Order: sequence, then C-alpha cells, then structure tokens
Amino acid sequence: MRALIVEDSCATRTILSQILRGLGFQVVEAGDGSEGLVRLEETGGADLALVDWNMPGMNGIDFVRAVRRRAAHDSMRMMMVTTETELESIARALEEGADEYVMKPFTREVIAQKLELMGLWLE
Ligand SMILES: [Mg+2]
Repeated sequence: MRALIVEDSCATRTILSQILRGLGFQVVEAGDGSEGLVRLEETGGADLALVDWNMPGMNGIDFVRAVRRRAAHDSMRMMMVTTETELESIARALEEGADEYVMKPFTREVIAQKLELMGLWLE
C-alpha cells in the first residue's frame, strides 16, 4: 500500500513516516497541500493520505477538498492528523471528504487502529 503524508512539520513527517513504513506502507512526503497534489500526480496516486490541517501554503482542509473534487483519487482514503480538536472542525473535515480524524499528539497504536477501521491495515 502507498501512503502520502502531507505535513509541514519535518519532525512530525518523520515520525508518521516511520510508523507507516513499520506497518508496511510505501511512503511519499509533502510539506503542504499543493506539494501533496503534485506528488499524487507524479506517483499516480496513493491508497492513503495523512493530512495535517495547519500548513503554510495550501492547508489540509483545502487539500482534502481539492482531492475530493477530482475523480482521479476517489478511492484514496484520507485521515486528518491535527491539533484542531473542536467538534466543529472535525465535522467540517468529514464533510469535505476526510474519512478519519486523529488528534495530535498521536501514538502508533492510534494510527494503526484508525487504519484498521478504514480497512487499510490488519494486525
Ligand atoms: Mg502544521
């Protein structure tokens, strides 16, 4: 399975990348939403995207919206990984097309559990 990580913090990207590689994913990284869209085109898409909300440039919610407007990546599951913890934000992300939502700080177990919920990983 292929995963795209869209996250502006290099440290968080590295941690997410290690977790996903450990779960057997091939990982591609992007520093903001527009870079994420470019990586999707370059690589032909991914099965999963982990998306930060707050990023300079194109933010996570705009990335989710942009992906869902294009039929090309309809099957890609998207999980927001963010410090935005208000119910309103969560509802908005799901409305825009995110499939799951994880709050920072996260653990490997929480990420794995959500992937399991999405049918992307089996322990
Ligand atoms: Mg950020």
